[in-house]
Amino acid sequence: MNRLYLIIGITLFILIIGATYNLNNIDSKNNKNNENNKNEVDYIDEVLYKGKIPLPIENFIKVTSGFGYRESVVNNDGKQISGGKSHLGIDLVGKQNSRVISIADGEVTFSGWQNGYGNCVEIKHISEDKKFFYSFYGHMQDNSLQVKKGQKVSIGQVIGIQGTTGNSTGDHLHFEIRTNTGSSKYAIDPAPYLFEEK
Ligand SMILES: [Zn+2]
Repeated sequence: MNRLYLIIGITLFILIIGATYNLNNIDSKNNKNNENNKNEVDYIDEVLYKGKIPLPIENFIKVTSGFGYRESVVNNDGKQISGGKSHLGIDLVGKQNSRVISIADGEVTFSGWQNGYGNCVEIKHISEDKKFFYSFYGHMQDNSLQVKKGQKVSIGQVIGIQGTTGNSTGDHLHFEIRTNTGSSKYAIDPAPYLFEEK
């Protein structure tokens, strides 16, 4: 009789230990999945081309300001509120809360706040002729930046959400292409690359 109790006892003990071990396993698997979800990278299903490089914003509607000199805008009191200086990029408007994407594979060289540009990202790319160039994206929404400095990104990868942070009067993406000469970068007009087939 005693032996029977002993066997039942040992069997129960083994079953309980086994069940606990399984539960722990399931738990750690779930945790791993959650971590993967947190680090999941967001891509646009299909990047849209109108020119040689893809549009950096989804649901594109229109260009509101081109590259180059911008007339100064003066309010009713005669106070200048914008313009009167060179515009180093192109302003693209997409539907509200549209995602902003990297126009090519590259590495993030800046991600954060800059006066005037608000929440912005700069990415370094290598062109077909093996030269460096940079793409720059400004005015994105607070807490929307998806990438960090030093991070590798792919074409179509979401880097943030269109917003109006910094010196901006409405939702839009300020987009620049910067090329490299020696140690200094300078901005060039992105329009031919965005809108002209080559
Ligand atoms: Zn702009």
